[in-house]
Order: sequence, then structure tokens, then C-alpha cells
Amino acid sequence: MLQVHQFPCLSDNYGFLIRDDATGTVACIDTPDGDAIVRQLDDLGWPSHMILNTHWHPDHVGGNAMLKKRYDCEIVGPVHEAARIPNIDRTVDEGDVVAVGECQAQVLHTPGHTLGHIVYHFAAAQKAFVGDTLFAMGCGRLFEGSPQQMWASLSRLRDWPEETVIYCAHEYTQANARFALSVDAGNAELQARAQWVDARRASGEFTVPTTIALERATNPFLRADDAGVQAAIGMSGAPFHEAFAEIRRRKDQF
Ligand code: ZN
Ligand code: FE
Repeated sequence: MLQVHQFPCLSDNYGFLIRDDATGTVACIDTPDGDAIVRQLDDLGWPSHMILNTHWHPDHVGGNAMLKKRYDCEIVGPVHEAARIPNIDRTVDEGDVVAVGECQAQVLHTPGHTLGHIVYHFAAAQKAFVGDTLFAMGCGRLFEGSPQQMWASLSRLRDWPEETVIYCAHEYTQANARFALSVDAGNAELQARAQWVDARRASGEFTVPTTIALERATNPFLRADDAGVQAAIGMSGAPFHEAFAEIRRRKDQF
């Protein structure tokens, strides 16, 4: 079994510590805040054996150096961003497998937010750590990649089994829901989810993780090929990546 311990970090990041129960192997998914991660590890009585980085942004690698020094953990990260990942030990790319004890993650290259971004899919455990590629009802900003690249990346994640649990790196859900309603107003499942999110946030609770089923039903960035969404943005029949680009552009200005 793969345990996941989730905790808020910095202003709106999540930290994730994962543990393979069979072997006791522990990995940090990204390192938004080294001090906060050490406190969580100490509370759990876990060491950190590994760090799995998704991309080079400082709120994902900021704790690498201090955690490396403290635990001498193995740092795994995206090959195309190796030069920008502090203390990296092992580079991985599309199709590689990373073992955390007996739990195996498939690595997918998902360019868009950054060009080298990768995600870790623990298929047998039905869990995925997607960094800033996919958010609950949102997706990462296109800082480096093109809309075509991000649409292709998101389409691959959308094809995972519906029950796959998605651990995204930020709590952006409430703002994402407000935007989603602006381009998919008639979506009853979205309306219901937005209400659930408001209630959760009002009591300070997480809205992450999510699932592929929920995202397929309510995430406008995964629905750029939906006739209703396309009609709502005045792009009926448009190539899907162009509709995606328009939705992303609107979100950037929302
Ligand atoms: Zn980022
Ligand atoms: Fe981030």
C-alpha cells in the first residue's frame, strides 16, 4: 500500500509525503518548503529516502538542498530541467519507471506549464502526482509551452482510469471553480462541485486530491472538445487545441 500524507505549504502549495508500507520507503513529492517538510517527517517519525521533483519552479524544488543535506536522500527529477533542479541525482524521462520501495511510478513527460515538466503515475496504487500540470478544475499556466503541448499533455492524463486519485500541487480550486462556471455554466455537476468547494473552503478543508472522473466532468481545460463548452466560448467546431488556447487565455484574464 502507498500511504499519502498531505499538508499545506507556503501560501497555497501542498506538500506530499508518500510511504510504501511494504518496505517503509518514504519519498517527498516536490519540496515547496524544506522546514515544513522536516516538521511533518518528524511528526510522522519518517525519514526521507527520496525526493521526486516534477519541475524546476522554486516552489517545487526550494527545499531540495536542505533535505539532501539532512537525509542524504536520492533526488529524482525531469531530464530536460536537470540543470535547474538543485542537487539532482537521477534524471528521468517519458516511459521511465521510478520505484518507491515496491510501489512503481510511470513517468510521463507533460510539457506546457514548463517544457520539461513530468508527472508520476502510480498506476497500481491508482494515484498520480501531477505538479502544476493539472489542477482541480484548472491547469497550470503556460509559462514555457504552447497550448498544443498542454492540450496533448492534459489529454493523456484524461485517459487514465477514472478512479485515479490526482494530487495537484496547489489549492487553487475555489478560483478555478468560479472561472469554470463562466465557460460551462449549464454543467450541473460543475455547479454542485462548486458548492461543495465553497463549503470545504469555508471550513478550511482541502479540496485536493481530486479524481480523473471529477475532472473529466467539471474541468473546462479537459472539456475543450465538449460541444457545450465550445458553444459557450463561441468556438463550435474549432480544433480542440484552439478551443483550449481560448479557455486558457480567458482564465489568464479572469
Ligand atoms: Zn510551477
Ligand atoms: Fe507551483
